[in-house]
Amino acid sequence: MAVQHTDDHSPGSKFVIITDSQAATVALRNLQRGRVIPIPLIRTYESLEARWTSGIDIKLQWCPSHVQVDGNERADRASVLAARVQIIDQHSYMDYKDFYDQIRLKTWEAWKQEYWSMEEGPWGWMRRLKLDINERAWFSEARDLNVKTITRINRILIGHCNNRKFLHLMRVVSDPFCNLCGAAQVQDVLHFFLDCAFTADVLKEHMEEEMAKTYDHYNEEAVMEYLGEGLKDLKRLTRLLEVMEAMDIPI
Ligand SMILES: [Zn+2]
Repeated sequence: MAVQHTDDHSPGSKFVIITDSQAATVALRNLQRGRVIPIPLIRTYESLEARWTSGIDIKLQWCPSHVQVDGNERADRASVLAARVQIIDQHSYMDYKDFYDQIRLKTWEAWKQEYWSMEEGPWGWMRRLKLDINERAWFSEARDLNVKTITRINRILIGHCNNRKFLHLMRVVSDPFCNLCGAAQVQDVLHFFLDCAFTADVLKEHMEEEMAKTYDHYNEEAVMEYLGEGLKDLKRLTRLLEVMEAMDIPI
């Protein structure tokens, strides 16, 4: 329809056809001489070629999502009218790829809802850190960190390290208790921060120094606050990692 529309304007002019069908633009662009033209594209291609050979310059431009663009809204209304009078072009088609953006958006919304609706369970640590999941990942700007460091910091942030709790879950060790302090306590990430006689004091002292304050109530909230602050100042996270590594805390 857009190609035919160019006939109403002065021939020889230049035209740009803007469409939100990325699939159609890519498919038309990829057509090569001597290759079979996909059936749904034949009519469009023929009318384009006829104009190209007669010297009319028509360019195809893909425009992602036209929503709230006046022309698009009018085109939508026109399509509703056309549907009512039932003069729909039987040869028009939509490619499934045109739905990719909508699928992506819907999946993202569904996942976000599930993420925030869970109290505990997977990602519990992350939720308590109040990470904005709309933001890019914290390490996307940390170009000076290597992959190994990023991975290890990520493990601390999500509370999922190679400690005895995890090894016990994987049936590598017979019990989940801490082998550093010897207490009959499950060795998880919080144990190292709060309860481990071997590491808790050192970590608390390090965090107090970094935050320039003394913890009256040193508890889970304090650890979460510290990790949350670390996301705003990545040097804090790398220094914390160094202190943990120096004590051979499994990460
Ligand atoms: Zn311990």
